[in-house]
Amino acid sequence: MKPFFILCCSSLFIFSQDEYAGLRHRMVERQIKARGVRDQKVLEAMMTVPRHLFVPKEHRSSAYQDRPLPIGHGQTISQPYIVGFMTEAVAPDHGDKVLEIGTGSGYQAAVLAEIVKEVYTLEIIRELGSTAKERLNILGYTNINAKVSDGYHGWVEHGPFDAIVVTAAAKEIPQPLIDQLAEGGTMIIPVGPQFSVQNLVLVNKSNGAIKTKKLLAVRFVPFTRD
Ligand code: SAH
Repeated sequence: MKPFFILCCSSLFIFSQDEYAGLRHRMVERQIKARGVRDQKVLEAMMTVPRHLFVPKEHRSSAYQDRPLPIGHGQTISQPYIVGFMTEAVAPDHGDKVLEIGTGSGYQAAVLAEIVKEVYTLEIIRELGSTAKERLNILGYTNINAKVSDGYHGWVEHGPFDAIVVTAAAKEIPQPLIDQLAEGGTMIIPVGPQFSVQNLVLVNKSNGAIKTKKLLAVRFVPFTRD
């Protein structure tokens, strides 16, 4: 009787640990892969990160739906496809050091941390920043460094960065972020008017000069300043 009981408990445990795995798989297949994200590293990262643990409890059952969700303080966790698109756009690699502006829930940072060596992430709203930091610690992301501060200035002590991912819409690309982008590095940033349609802009730095390219029309929460 005893072995059966143990087996029974452990399979229940595995089930409850992974009860969202099916939804996550479907999200990656139908929302990310089907729309053209091909980078296997990105697809695997999004298959791994438990998105439902990054949203408030009352939204947990919607965590894998094709939309952004509120995370408090008027902010949102981005739609899964946008996270996949932006992550692929900066071509993350295993040895990279990446800066994210706008930690929010910490989800984008976790997706990056599954792929790259080190992630640095800045959040301007204290409560969001500290909750995300705690969440990322509990989930065991030892390669993420999170801090509460105005991301306009970047994180100069840790630059230059191989990639920079900005998850709030700026009126223009902050110069300190351009300065902290490594030679050959890539930044993705939504640029445009607040509370309207913006463009995801890809920025490449080569021989000290930057080239920009508009990739996709998007709607992000505003990049604010202290
Ligand atoms: N990447 C987040 C999405 C966050 S929404 C996630 O995966 O959940 C954008 C976030 O950018 C918000 O939390 C907002 O407070 C933050 N933000 C806006 N302006 C900022 C600034 N100047 N510096 C740092 N964070 C900023």
